[in-house]
Amino acid sequence: MPGPAIPFDNTYARDLAGFYEPCQPATVPAPDLLFFNRGLAEELRLGLGACDADALAAMFSGNALPEGAQPIAQAYAGHQFGQFNPQLGDGRALLIGEVVDGQGRRRDIALKGSGRTPFSRRGDGKAAVGPMLREVLIGEAMHALGIPTTRALAVVATGEPVRRERSLPGAVLTRIAASHLRVGTFQFFMAHGTPAMVRQLADYAIARHYPELAAGEGRYLGFLRAVAERQAALIAQWMHVGFIHGVMNTDNMGIPGETIDYGPCAFMEAYDPQAVFSSIDEWGRYAYEAQPSIARWNLARLAEALLPLIAANEGAAVEQATEVLDGFPARYHAHWLAGLRAKLGLAGQVADGDDLDTALGESWLDLLHAQQVDFTLGWRRLADAAAGDEAPLRALFAGQPGLERWLERWRARCAAEDAGAAAPAGRAGRMRRVNPWLIPRNHRVEEALASASDDGDLGPFERLLKALQRPYDEDPAQAAYAEPAPREFMSEFRTF
Ligand code: AMP
Ligand code: MG
Ligand code: MG
Repeated sequence: MPGPAIPFDNTYARDLAGFYEPCQPATVPAPDLLFFNRGLAEELRLGLGACDADALAAMFSGNALPEGAQPIAQAYAGHQFGQFNPQLGDGRALLIGEVVDGQGRRRDIALKGSGRTPFSRRGDGKAAVGPMLREVLIGEAMHALGIPTTRALAVVATGEPVRRERSLPGAVLTRIAASHLRVGTFQFFMAHGTPAMVRQLADYAIARHYPELAAGEGRYLGFLRAVAERQAALIAQWMHVGFIHGVMNTDNMGIPGETIDYGPCAFMEAYDPQAVFSSIDEWGRYAYEAQPSIARWNLARLAEALLPLIAANEGAAVEQATEVLDGFPARYHAHWLAGLRAKLGLAGQVADGDDLDTALGESWLDLLHAQQVDFTLGWRRLADAAAGDEAPLRALFAGQPGLERWLERWRARCAAEDAGAAAPAGRAGRMRRVNPWLIPRNHRVEEALASASDDGDLGPFERLLKALQRPYDEDPAQAAYAEPAPREFMSEFRTF
């Protein structure tokens, strides 16, 4: 029996026949609602206000899909750790439909962990409670930090074990995304389809995510440039909060420019450019400092798929696409530098100051690295220093003379800017709006997931999730969540 109606408008299913396989979710034995994001449901205007927990659990486990849902498994390919896999696709996910939210934005509603699909290969199509709640915590933290991301609408325990290294409680996550178009979606139709199909996909992506390009002559090159621009902005934001995605395969890079697919991701604690936590990333391909260059590598794979379209429209396709890709590091740097200035409390640029500000920021990061200072606390205490309270910052650096020399440079740079300004005050406040006080601390995340998954106690998960909603406001009541993980914990810490 179908659940209550959701006002779906399913363009992907309607307009892109041949780009997916229709597929029904598996039925689960004992759906139990672990998490429901009421605020997001309202934002999406789902009209589910009258549904009780059992009705929501039935709906978002896949047992009773809402009326109007058209579940489909999307086809995609991808480079995984540099190796091309022509056949990935939604092996454990289903797009159930699209809605237009209160602000006119089209959003995908998808299930993850809803059973086998034609793309499952040897997988079981299932997901476990721990990783799905992890996606909630990290995704909602990213959202609260102001970073574009897919979001979690619901998590439903299935009452069925999933077999991993050990038996784990199963769950289905409902994920909201601007769309699930990936670089790998284009790669799939380059590998298996026709140039006409790649064009159809590109036209769909442009209309949905870059409508300002739709009428233009050079729209496919413009599309590549626009996707690159959003990725440059996104990765700069990741870098400024110490986020390490962990699996930047081309199938995990979204065309809309949202962070997508929270697997073995983590927030860095002690600053280390080479930080990598994923147990499957043996060679550090997706280490913290590698993320901008990996983004460019992935964009080159998108460019390959788009080349025939660019050539048909614009000629000299290789040269033009190469120019976009070669321009990526500068675009990334521009976003990074703008973010850096904000983090340093600099409101503007001084003449010819780009290199000076870059050097100032890099020296600061070198100091954090040399002393293995906690990235989040280092920045936050610099904001305290801007408010005149320097002792907590000094305490982090254990009396390193380099810090004093650096602080002199920073103060001089601030003074240069303030000299001309009417109101130099407000620096600390500005810094506190961009340097988070709270990130999802790894030991807290693991503790919350273990308690939910092993003991069925959602208390720690719910309390942590609540704290993560306000990452920029120092709140003594949440102080325990702002503490870095113990050194011993981080030295052993791996994500899966
Ligand atoms: P990911 O590492 O989550 O980005 O997934 C890579 C590919 O593996 C995608 O095609 C997924 O659909 C597929 N996949 C991951 N886990 C499973 C599973 N348990 N069953 C079937 N397919 C899966
Ligand atoms: Mg993926
Ligand atoms: Mg995944």
